[in-house]
Amino acid sequence: MPPKTKAAKAAPQTLARLVAIHPDAHCELDHDGPFQLLVATVLSAQTTDVAVNKITPGLFAKYPDAKALAAATQGDVERTIDRIGMFRQKSKNIIGLAKKLVEQHGGEVPRSMEALVKLPGVGRKTANVVLGVVWGTPDGVVVDTHVSRISQRLGWTSATDPADIERDLCALIPKPDWDRTSHTLIFHGRRICFARKPDCEGCGVADACPSAHKAENVGRKPPRPPRVAAPRPQPAAAKSGKPRAAKKAATRTAKPAGTK
Ligand code: SF4
Repeated sequence: MPPKTKAAKAAPQTLARLVAIHPDAHCELDHDGPFQLLVATVLSAQTTDVAVNKITPGLFAKYPDAKALAAATQGDVERTIDRIGMFRQKSKNIIGLAKKLVEQHGGEVPRSMEALVKLPGVGRKTANVVLGVVWGTPDGVVVDTHVSRISQRLGWTSATDPADIERDLCALIPKPDWDRTSHTLIFHGRRICFARKPDCEGCGVADACPSAHKAENVGRKPPRPPRVAAPRPQPAAAKSGKPRAAKKAATRTAKPAGTK
């Protein structure tokens, strides 16, 4: 359940103000049609949209549709997208999903959440991007790092798990606004409500934000624990409990009398 606070109850009005601040908010993955958006979104996991947009023109020039990508070799796809992170796993996923589209959906992208999440590399987030951007029928709100951070700062959720945040946002925001909620919060996060130093002075919804001017630590990912150095391997002699010098001395003492 979302918080029962004034800020949470005002979420639809605050969202409308954010939409007015960022009227150009949209999906920034370059694509032409549902197949290309699906592939680009799978490739965007743990990678920026800018990085994905640099490799997809080459990828889609070679493999413009599901049939072409289904027939691709893993090695060639890897070479084509090797400038983004996890390119090997992503190559496997996009070839796998293209094969499934050909075998089970006539080469077309299905329009239901249930069918989309059965494709390799496709989770709720990716499926909602495609359903929302292409057909305007999302099954929920896409929750990425910006949406997660800003919805916490605005007091729309106290959850930290993306599935729980999505549930809270869906309860607060009317369904027709689900798609624009994520694009708008993502633009707000990129332009004003930065993770480290949010520009609360310049924020047009500061009066509706319970975290205004004290937001630095709200909605941030917990810092990674410091790395513990692995213990260095011990020399064989020390392992046996006898220092090398002591071992030598023991050998000398054990020599029979009269030997050199
Ligand atoms: S007031 Fe500050 S913390 Fe709140 S949404 Fe605006 S920039 Fe983010």
